[in-house]
Amino acid sequence: MAAGDGLLLRVRPPLARLTRAQALLVAELAATGGNGAIDLTRRAALQLRGFDAAGWRQATERLVAAGLVDPDPAIEAVALTVAPDWREGDDTHRVARALMARRGALPSLPPKFGIAVDAGTRAVLGDTPADLRVERAGDGGLILRADGRGVGVHLAPGREGDAVVALARWFVASGGAAAGRMARHAAALPDWAVGETRPLTGQSPGAQVAPRFGRMTGAELAALADGAEALRVTPWRSLLVERGDVASRAGICRPEIFPCQESGQAEGLTEGSRLHQPAAGLPPLAWEDGARCGDQTYHRDDRSKDTAADTFSLDACVGAPACPQASVATRALADRLADARVAGPIHVSGCAKGCARGAPAALTIVGRDGRYDLVRDGRADSPPRLRGLTAAALLAHLGAD
Ligand code: SF4
Repeated sequence: MAAGDGLLLRVRPPLARLTRAQALLVAELAATGGNGAIDLTRRAALQLRGFDAAGWRQATERLVAAGLVDPDPAIEAVALTVAPDWREGDDTHRVARALMARRGALPSLPPKFGIAVDAGTRAVLGDTPADLRVERAGDGGLILRADGRGVGVHLAPGREGDAVVALARWFVASGGAAAGRMARHAAALPDWAVGETRPLTGQSPGAQVAPRFGRMTGAELAALADGAEALRVTPWRSLLVERGDVASRAGICRPEIFPCQESGQAEGLTEGSRLHQPAAGLPPLAWEDGARCGDQTYHRDDRSKDTAADTFSLDACVGAPACPQASVATRALADRLADARVAGPIHVSGCAKGCARGAPAALTIVGRDGRYDLVRDGRADSPPRLRGLTAAALLAHLGAD
């Protein structure tokens, strides 16, 4: 699609996994065909930016040949998000593979319609956009849950793909395309899809590398892939390093790759690894100890417990001029708020769409007609407390001038 900085190329790796060779290819294409920037998205995709038409065509052909883009646009359009810390042969891997094989059986769905396969020991994708969810239940089984409903129906082992296809067909047949998303589709579910089981929710246990604002360069991706067997792309704007060894740890921590941060950032405002405890009994996909860079240890972000991390969490979309929907710059403003240690969580969004964060934040700053609106304890599309502020007025109001 066209963006303010050229054509944008989206790569949604199958099963959220990039082999080392695939990651190096993506890194090379971003550096040589685009403007070098890669954005990690909330739908576990990589967006390569700044292509011209010829470069985009050439890159797409190479991505198709590498198995990273499906040559059939209808198949490619199906957004299938998986819990990224799956293991070979586990339920997430099994169900996702079955669904990939059945994508041709899905009806034509609205552009943002997505399917989440969240069948690890706990469901971890609750904040990730999706319309149909296959999730772990408290009794150990799997459920199918339509987004917007708190409960789902139990699935028979081996029939999960059939059930997802059937509910997608019901969505279209019952007029869901007009609503666009399952959560907005008010029609009563078919009897067979009505259940009363809640998902068993939790946090992803994998150690993650989370670049500042989810933005990295081709050179950074190549350095991260170097020495790793594969990378997993998470919907939390981060990457899991699969069987990263000592060499890859050193690569991550080289100052020119992920520069050491001053105290505020080291405490988790922005750049650095977000590290989670590995799941009990399972070998970790990446290193277990804190990632170090010089004398600094990257922020340890256990999102279930670390309230300090939450206080200083900061999300900002790409904003103007790169996104045509934005009328304001976002990340420069976010940097100013970080420098001033304004407490959050903070979300700076170029428009009310809120691509960078779906969950509410203590402070959400939303661009509109070249000015900023301020939402407290809400989302980018929530009613603002203050409207039409200049950047200077907003910073002064927040004590960051
Ligand atoms: S939130 Fe709006 S401005 Fe920001 S990237 Fe999304 S569409 Fe663009």
